[in-house]
Amino acid sequence: MIKCAECGKEIGQDSLSCPECGQPTEESRLRKKALILRLISIGMFGLMVFNISVGTWFAGPIESLLYLLTCVGIFIFAKPVAKLF
Ligand SMILES: [Zn+2]
Repeated sequence: MIKCAECGKEIGQDSLSCPECGQPTEESRLRKKALILRLISIGMFGLMVFNISVGTWFAGPIESLLYLLTCVGIFIFAKPVAKLF
């Protein structure tokens, strides 16, 4: 259980908003940030695919691999990464 920042009422850990006053919870903010991070990682991946397909990709194989791992990593760990912001 966590406490609502607005009214202090105890609410469930996974609740997206307080049932009492409607204040969005930390969980709801976290999910939104995680969603944005996932969209960014998909965008980064799309950029790589696009550049490779038109022959303007700048990185060598190792850099490409690291870039790809970063995209996948951000996508998978979007929620823990969102906690850092
Ligand atoms: Zn509340």
